[in-house]
Order: sequence, then C-alpha cells, then structure tokens
Amino acid sequence: MSPSSEIVPSGQRVVCPGSYDPITNGHLDVIRRAAALYEEVVVAVVNRSVRKSDTLFGIEERLEFIEHATADLANVRAEPFNTLVVDFARKVGAKVILKGLRAISDFEYELEMHQLNRRQAPDIESVYLMASSEYSFLSSSGVKELAIFGGNIDHLVPGDVGRRLQEELKR
Ligand code: ADP
Repeated sequence: MSPSSEIVPSGQRVVCPGSYDPITNGHLDVIRRAAALYEEVVVAVVNRSVRKSDTLFGIEERLEFIEHATADLANVRAEPFNTLVVDFARKVGAKVILKGLRAISDFEYELEMHQLNRRQAPDIESVYLMASSEYSFLSSSGVKELAIFGGNIDHLVPGDVGRRLQEELKR
C-alpha cells in the first residue's frame, strides 16, 4: 500500500470559531468564502472567553445576527460553544478549524493557538484564509469604538447590526 492511499480525506464540515461581538463584514467575507469551499460551515460563537472580557451583545443576539446575515447560505449555521474549540469541532464532526487572518498580530496569536490545539487534538487541522484587502483592518472592537464616537459604520457591518450598535452605545 502506498503511503498516500492511507490518507483519509478530512471531513467536509468546518468550524469557524470566534466571539462575533458583533459579526462584521470581514467575518462574513471569510464565512462566505469558506461556504464556497466546504460542504458545511458551522460558525461557532464563544459563550465565554478568557481572552476577552464581557461581550457587548449576549449570545442569543450574536447568533441571531449571524443567522440573519447568512440566511442566503444554506450550508452555514451558527452554534454557541463554551468548551475547547477542538472539543466543539469533534462534537459536530468537523476535522477542520477555519479562521481568517488579518495582520501580523493575528498571525502571532493564531500560531500559538494552532500549536496548543495540535497538542490537544492532532487529528484536527487548522486552515486560514487571508483577509480580503478591504477588510484587513476591520475588527469587532474597532467597529464598536467607531460607533461610540459617532463614526460611519454602514459599510462595515450588516444593517441590523449597525442599528443595534447605535442603540446599545447610546445608553
Ligand atoms: P475579532 O478579532 O474581530 O473580535 P473574533 O474573535 O470574533 O473577531 O474572530 C473570529 C475570527 O474571525 C478570527 O479568526 C479572526 O481572525 C477572524 N476575523 C475577524 N475579523 C476579520 C476580518 N476583517 N477579515 C478576516 N478575518 C477576520
């Protein structure tokens, strides 16, 4: 038997983890591109994160924003999780974790996460899509800051997200 015949192709289901507080057009760009490459995309929304403190939007609303923005994509669904990403991937039967990569800072963090995840679960592979140039400096925290100071965020987030951001931040 040749070595290559022993390779079992990875599943066609991928997990795109993140806090999505809230989803931006940059996230959506990655999700849409993933949906064109894989049979099924599970957008995994962190319920709690040690890296980030409290979220602006609750888990239900973050999930709703994603479901609404991806309603035209039949192979995309959103689910909450509060375990290790690799455990969540196993639970939904995905062998691939797919993430978007923006600047150098993302790279450093993702390299560390990749190594930790590989140690936990050598059977699960991470795949990265480079951010599209128009979104490479777009982050949820940047959008929130812009919104606080009255900046125009129309082209950065879906319409309902923009409206809710303005409401929340006015309080
Ligand atoms: P953020 O860093 O904006 O708070 P998340 O923690 O929700 O985002 O990130 C989820 C994933 O989406 C990460 O892999 C992150 O690198 C990626 N991502 C976030 N914004 C963008 C963007 N503008 N373009 C490409 N990928 C992105």
